[in-house]
Amino acid sequence: MTQKKIKGIGILSGGLDSLLAVKVLQDQGLDLMGIVYTTPFFDLRPGRSLEEVLEIPIRIIDLTEKHLQMLRNPVYGFGQHMNPCIDCHALMLREAGRIMEAEGADFLFTGEVLGQRPMSQRRDSLKSVEKLAGYPGGVVRPLSAKLLDPTIPEAQGWIDRSRLLDISGRGRKRQMALAEHYGLRDYPQPGGGCLLTREGFARKLRLLLDCFPEAGSREVEILKCGRHFRVSSSTFLTLGRDQGDNEKLETLAGPTDILLRAADHPGPTGLLLGPHWSREDLELAARILVAYGDSPPGAVSQVVWSRGGERGRLAALHSDRDALRELMIG
Ligand code: SF4
Repeated sequence: MTQKKIKGIGILSGGLDSLLAVKVLQDQGLDLMGIVYTTPFFDLRPGRSLEEVLEIPIRIIDLTEKHLQMLRNPVYGFGQHMNPCIDCHALMLREAGRIMEAEGADFLFTGEVLGQRPMSQRRDSLKSVEKLAGYPGGVVRPLSAKLLDPTIPEAQGWIDRSRLLDISGRGRKRQMALAEHYGLRDYPQPGGGCLLTREGFARKLRLLLDCFPEAGSREVEILKCGRHFRVSSSTFLTLGRDQGDNEKLETLAGPTDILLRAADHPGPTGLLLGPHWSREDLELAARILVAYGDSPPGAVSQVVWSRGGERGRLAALHSDRDALRELMIG
């Protein structure tokens, strides 16, 4: 009778460390599968196929809805900006754990390195993440394993602890040497960073969630383009900065949102978000829109608006942008 191979499910960030974690475990002849997550805040899909580089199956999972839900009330709070890193890692592990169970796999692993990140990769944070995810002692971190308590897969003898590593801190020397050792010269780079760690984006997102506690991926996509203004406690105006933004806003407009455009001068497209707008909100949105268009200061412009099948027109005075700056949130 052939013995079942021990199988591990790994979270891949697309960066070098998670690739090395796979390689270190592959040296022990383990059966591995990788998971790559995407949300509107980060996309860890690398440019090149990881399957090609690592020779293991990879599953790409959209974590958007669960990530947004977690973001509203993270158990361990936020990092410097709006990055709930401990809860985020726990969510990723929890989802990976579901796959592990469905696949009949035996353990989870990540490419985390002890002490590499101040918030999420401290010894106590790694433990908190496992506990919150529901897999205490079940997550192998091959790059730092010898510096951490033995995990269940090591204690069970599924993984040879002596062949795992003891890397810690922010230095990259050992990883570079390992990349050389494994012939990972042309490894994929992860696409961009996490928007939640950026101050400007975090500020806008906080305000968006204040205005729309139920905001979903569409609203987050709106936040990623153009200029944003808080028109009232429940309305949020976005103006395109260029043609690309204008087209994107038209595509993203929902049935209760209002699209605005100056009728007699070139200018941005505006998207007023939210079902609870008043006539004053609409007038203020039209004034902001005209201030960022090409009509001469002091002139009165016609602004057309539409919402679903409804259409209307109103006049707006070209005001000084400075007078409207306090409404701008980024
Ligand atoms: S930086 Fe972003 S993607 Fe990374 S753990 Fe924190 S919240 Fe999650």
